[in-house]
Amino acid sequence: MRGRRRLLGVTALATATGLLGAGAGAGASRWWDTHLSPTARTAPRPSGPGRALGARTVFQTSGESGKLALTFDDGPDPRWTPRVLDMLARLQVRATFFVLGSAAQEHPELIAREVAEGHEVAVHNWVHTDVYGVDFSELTRSVSRTCEAITAAGAPSPRLWRPPYGRVDAPAMMVASQQKLDVLLWSVHSPSASAAAAVKDVAGAGSVVLCHDGRTQPSEALFSALEDALLSLQERGLAITTGSDLLSSPSEHQGELT
Ligand SMILES: [Zn+2]
Repeated sequence: MRGRRRLLGVTALATATGLLGAGAGAGASRWWDTHLSPTARTAPRPSGPGRALGARTVFQTSGESGKLALTFDDGPDPRWTPRVLDMLARLQVRATFFVLGSAAQEHPELIAREVAEGHEVAVHNWVHTDVYGVDFSELTRSVSRTCEAITAAGAPSPRLWRPPYGRVDAPAMMVASQQKLDVLLWSVHSPSASAAAAVKDVAGAGSVVLCHDGRTQPSEALFSALEDALLSLQERGLAITTGSDLLSSPSEHQGELT
């Protein structure tokens, strides 16, 4: 009995293998026959001097300054950005807004308010596109248009870029270097109210906290939890600041790239 069961098992396996083999042999195409591999994307050869060899890319710092960076992506948004700015005013903290250029062009008054209240305005992208799908010249245009929309609204020239989804590859690095932008990713994410509440436990000195003031993620519950978490961090003696302020703090170390 035992031997028969084993034999049945072997038969079933052989049949399954045979079916798979038949399917593959019947002309099923392989993924790499129809898709361009991500490794096929390379940056163009630099045409002149400059820092076209790479860009500083940071997701957290060592934390000696006792500061952490607070960042908001995907705005400006007329519903949520004023809500976030009111919260930051109550907490008396400054943050970095990684904005969409198209939204900045549509709502320059929100960019102007961010600047007037001491916040940093930085580049996300013209629209919310994964940079892996964007050709180099289009990506260059997308970032430069966003910089133009930011300065046209009265903000200083941006110093930081956070590509949507944190996607960084060689063409993106070359765009960053050509436009003299440092790339700032993140070390703490707050995609839900519970995750925002947990920021008080998972964030510390040197963290870069990612939040959103546009598109689909914002909610009253999330911002309420986030405000409580930020208050807790302040009570622990941490200073909440912008991305550029964290990166330029003299006591911070960011590894070999500095
Ligand atoms: Zn985004």
